[in-house]
Amino acid sequence: MYDVIVIGGGPAGSRTAYMLARQGWKAVVLEKGNGVGEKLSCTGIIGQECVRIFDIDDSVILRRVKSARLLSPSGKMLYIKREEYQASILDRAAFDIAMAQRAQNAGAQYVFDSAVHDMRMTREGVEVYCRKRGDSLMARAVVIASGYGTRLTEVMRLGKTDDFVAGVQIEVPVKEADEVEVYFGRETAPGFFGWLVPTADGKARVGLLAHKTPDEYLKKLLDLLASQGRIVPGEGKPSYDAIPLKPLRRTYGDRVLAVGDAAGQVKPTTGGGIYYGMLCADIAADTLSNALHRDDLSAKNLSRYDREWRRKLGHELMVGYRARKLFERLSDQQIDRLFDVIEKNHIDTTLLEATDVSFDWHSRAIMKLLRRAVVARVLGSIRLPFRSSKNI
Ligand SMILES: Cc1cc2nc3c(=O)[nH]c(=O)nc-3n(C[C@H](O)[C@H](O)[C@H](O)COP(=O)(O)OP(=O)(O)OC[C@H]3O[C@@H](n4cnc5c(N)ncnc54)[C@H](O)[C@@H]3O)c2cc1C
Repeated sequence: MYDVIVIGGGPAGSRTAYMLARQGWKAVVLEKGNGVGEKLSCTGIIGQECVRIFDIDDSVILRRVKSARLLSPSGKMLYIKREEYQASILDRAAFDIAMAQRAQNAGAQYVFDSAVHDMRMTREGVEVYCRKRGDSLMARAVVIASGYGTRLTEVMRLGKTDDFVAGVQIEVPVKEADEVEVYFGRETAPGFFGWLVPTADGKARVGLLAHKTPDEYLKKLLDLLASQGRIVPGEGKPSYDAIPLKPLRRTYGDRVLAVGDAAGQVKPTTGGGIYYGMLCADIAADTLSNALHRDDLSAKNLSRYDREWRRKLGHELMVGYRARKLFERLSDQQIDRLFDVIEKNHIDTTLLEATDVSFDWHSRAIMKLLRRAVVARVLGSIRLPFRSSKNI
């Protein structure tokens, strides 16, 4: 009998397993792949705060960035730059492997080729059934960290997140691009954005988020960049994945917690989920450790996890989600006008100088932006999904 079975060996699952194992709990990670590090769709950009807090090793960082070019639908550019590095671009496969290695070094066990398809509550614990492996394992508690779209949250009566976006990305040889570029506009990625992220060794990740037909938009973006002589359309294949935009209503139950994308702990503004998932993994492991000590794995006792992660991230996710919905309604002309007013009124500089605005925490920047009368005029008749209260 294990203390905890963690389902999924992505960043959220491996971090949870690591934190449990280092406190002496018998933890096993069941991973459906034949190894970890297969999430090729992910761009792997994380803020420096994440690098620092989780002590991420230089060996899995491809490069660090201080700046980015934001491009409006008609080609207007906002150049944002700070003196210090703001973000790091991960070698996502190497990062996942390093996180799993860290958990294994702390004593967690990994079992690959183990797709979990069902779970059943017994009097002693939870019985977890794996496909391929053909048998079942027992644990006192289970952590669902199997990413977005997992059926397992429904199996354990935690429901499912009801808003998501599709993401697609391809790695291509790059000719002329040395900075992160973000593209906005209905022709590129309606309601969302596309990106070009130079990594290293003459390569770049090109991708976008879209509610529908992401492959068609990716082809258009690649054609555009190739026609500008920026990239060489590669032989590689695009990778696809879905990203939740809203958290589950409930992330705990008797003997079970959900973390990471499985719980919808993702920034709705950008779709970035590595940092928030790992922050929640720490809260999950801490809650479980206390509950295992007290031998009380009831939903009531585990509800502390839900309260604590929402205290930390709930406001960010709510403001980010509403801003996302607002952005999805903007026309190309409105986005262009926003670029104009931001530049003319030096709002970009003001935001860059604000110490409470950062790569990982967006609600302050959103509220500062929306409070500006010039911005409100651009948004015109669109009703703001926010109270104008200063402390939101
Ligand atoms: C196109 C795109 C670009 C992105 N770019 C960024 C970015 O730049 N920065 C950022 O922070 N985030 C980014 N993200 C989001 C990021 O990839 C996720 O938030 C992150 O991977 C979530 O980690 P996780 O551990 O919760 O889930 P995952 O990384 O999805 O890991 C889940 C694991 O569970 C395993 N699994 C699934 N089902 C089962 C099962 N039934 N049994 C056993 N194992 C199972 C999977 O094989 C996988 O290993 C991007 C996502 C996409 C789609």
